[in-house]
Amino acid sequence: MSETAASVQTEVDRFLKELQRKDPHQPEFHQAVHEVLESIMPVVLDRKDIQDACILERLTEPDRVFRFRVTWEDDHGKVHVQRAWRVQFNNALGPYKGGLRFHPSVNLSILKFLGFEQIFKNSLTGLPLGGGKGGSDFDPKGRSQREVMRFCQALMTELHRHIGPDTDVPAGDIGVGSREIGYLFGQYKRLANAWVGVITGKHLDFGGSAVRTEATGFGVVYFLENMLRHHGESVAGRTALVSGSGNVAQYAIQKLQQLGARVITASDGSGFIHDPAGIDEEKLAWLIDLKKDRARRIREYAERWPTAIFYPGLKPWGVQADLALPCATQNELEEEDARKLVANGVRAVAEGANMPCTLGAIRVFRENRVLFAPGKAANAGGVAVSGLEMSQNSQRMSWTREEVDLKLQGIMAAIHDKCLRFGENGGQVDYIRGANVGGFLRVAEAMLAQGLS
Ligand code: NDP
Repeated sequence: MSETAASVQTEVDRFLKELQRKDPHQPEFHQAVHEVLESIMPVVLDRKDIQDACILERLTEPDRVFRFRVTWEDDHGKVHVQRAWRVQFNNALGPYKGGLRFHPSVNLSILKFLGFEQIFKNSLTGLPLGGGKGGSDFDPKGRSQREVMRFCQALMTELHRHIGPDTDVPAGDIGVGSREIGYLFGQYKRLANAWVGVITGKHLDFGGSAVRTEATGFGVVYFLENMLRHHGESVAGRTALVSGSGNVAQYAIQKLQQLGARVITASDGSGFIHDPAGIDEEKLAWLIDLKKDRARRIREYAERWPTAIFYPGLKPWGVQADLALPCATQNELEEEDARKLVANGVRAVAEGANMPCTLGAIRVFRENRVLFAPGKAANAGGVAVSGLEMSQNSQRMSWTREEVDLKLQGIMAAIHDKCLRFGENGGQVDYIRGANVGGFLRVAEAMLAQGLS
């Protein structure tokens, strides 16, 4: 190891140790910071102004965190108590912006990792968006429409005090789709007596943007296509593994189909389906309809379409394919999975979910020169179109589907360019470094310019 590399490693270790000392029970947050530090520490060690202003220390400490109780009543009159949080991480570039997640696994560590990632992702979009995240341990699976509505109303009764179109603008994430966004928006409007763009992902009829539903999934594939094209290749004619079957997975599958790839897997928490014939337009429309009810399981796909086999309790990474797009949740693709993908000749991996690949998996991809698109770059399309939704709301106008799709393609291409600019290294492109350094520098310069705040 060179002297410079050794001092970078020492500083990364020292910083992480201090973070772990302060918040020992936040492994997901430590993991997210670790990945970023490895890329940006050489830049930080080169910049005395960044060190003197404690930019790293400030960036890893949220501006504020709200934690509150949400009490709601189910259809049988039983009262439930849930926990909820909003992490307002950094607003150097614009109002705090990031989704709300409803899932029983939600805790402060997961929301801090997501909020931290969001700062860099939002920076990469080039739009005026800060970073935040929130959510609750509420599980919408199997709940009736009215129960979900009552829960969303109860949550917003507290949350509305802390958000606003120029302060903090939440959106959806796991467990929060357009139905939940509608209920949350309705309750905000009632409490604030104001119709403002305080939340994104709204229905098209009341302030939503065209292409927002599809934006994250489409954006991942646009980024992947940019990455392959830069290497003289394309997604056309390739086979692809997708995990998840929610919002991101559905539209990643659709765009892959449209660009001529054959998608052969999809999954949920219960297992995965392998359909060697490919998930075509008709099958995808059926799957999207199935998953409108969050409680329905992916097994039903194999019951409906005889070309497919369901593998209970397993993940799709053992299936042979050219491309892999993890689109479900954090740490769903581990080192051992990465080894299987590499052994099967995978060419490129693009993260649709946030931090779906563990640090061990990423190391395996790096060592084997697999093209790797990190989530903060590849899945930024969703927040980018959310940013466009905010602009349309402020102007009281809406752009057409074609206009928004073109802007999305432009933003994903610009993010890819930024990754090249900051990640090119001896003829190779390190997309992780490119995304981290590109995202970091914009925020750091803004923080420096704004003084101690
Ligand atoms: P959805 O709720 O629509 O879908 C989530 C999917 O992931 C479901 O198939 C779900 O299966 C699966 N999943 C969730 N948790 C787990 C788990 N612990 N183990 C196995 N499978 C799981 O969420 P989205 O599609 O919106 O989000 C997916 C990922 O993409 C998340 O990491 C999210 O943060 C990220 N993301 C989303 C954006 C968006 O615009 N929606 C933007 C950028 C990133 P099951 O039904 O069994 O739970």
